Amino acid sequence: MISGKTVVAGIVGRPVAHSLSPVLHNAWLAASGIDGVYVPFAPDALGLERLANGFRGGAIRGVNVTIPFKEAALKVADRASPLAQAAGAANLLIFDRDGKIFADNTDGAGLLGAFAAQAPGWDVRNGPVTVLGAGGAARGAVAALLAAGAPKVWVLNRTLSKADAIAKALGAKVFPLPYAHAPSALQQTTAVINATSAGLSGEGALTVPLELTHPSTVVMDMVYKPLETPFLAQARALGRPTVDGLEMLIRQAVPTFEALFGATPPAGVDVRALALEVLNA
Ligand code: NDP
Repeated sequence: MISGKTVVAGIVGRPVAHSLSPVLHNAWLAASGIDGVYVPFAPDALGLERLANGFRGGAIRGVNVTIPFKEAALKVADRASPLAQAAGAANLLIFDRDGKIFADNTDGAGLLGAFAAQAPGWDVRNGPVTVLGAGGAARGAVAALLAAGAPKVWVLNRTLSKADAIAKALGAKVFPLPYAHAPSALQQTTAVINATSAGLSGEGALTVPLELTHPSTVVMDMVYKPLETPFLAQARALGRPTVDGLEMLIRQAVPTFEALFGATPPAGVDVRALALEVLNA
């Protein structure tokens, strides 16, 4: 029930209707008995700044931010976590009572949490990691992998200048590569992460020679619609361990819930099953 004391939070995106975050957070809120609600906001293309400035002072507690506002979210903030700064993007804004906006990035925690859950034997410190794509999600992934101890990260992208920019921003352990160099990277990598939007809704799947990877190489796809993307299907057919994008989404929602509602998500709620129901509807 909504009361006069309900803590309001939400997600800002355009489009936002497809987001599974309201499903996750509202299920956790209901199970924990917290007087809170998590709602979608879809401002116009330039509306993130106006919306965020309007919430200064804590009119609502905070918002997740998704496509295409993650970079704008970092810019509108007064303070930012080291990870959000390194990623150059924020997926979470907290509206503090003093009128300031704090930006964080929990996508990296989501990525590493998904690996820990679905590929528990994999250790980021054990060898090079390959990231496909150089957009906001890739940048966040590279920052999180480096922070967790990855010795080397190859960033492959169609537009090489964007991979160059990530290397320039994040340092000497990051190596930008064109897709023509995929074979040599794939032969040596301990994990391959698809952080491109290719494969979204099953369209225009990414084709890289996954058969060149070592049998223990973990293959991860940030895209979760469909849950088994053509990229993950190719990896599974080769017998590679896989990690899916839905697990990443759920794992990033855990520190997000803690920041928004001041409590750990309750155990015993199968949010993955709930999200899958919505995905498959
Ligand atoms: P951006 O739009 O910032 O970047 C898109 C990237 O995909 C670019 O590197 C682009 O290359 C590349 N790309 C697009 N189409 C193709 C193609 N056909 N072939 C090769 N490369 C292609 O998006 P984001 O970084 O914000 O998001 C990337 C994906 O990650 C999205 O699908 C998003 O839904 C997903 N995501 C999932 C999360 C989760 O929790 N599971 C969290 C965050 C994101 P170029 O630069 O050459 O155009």
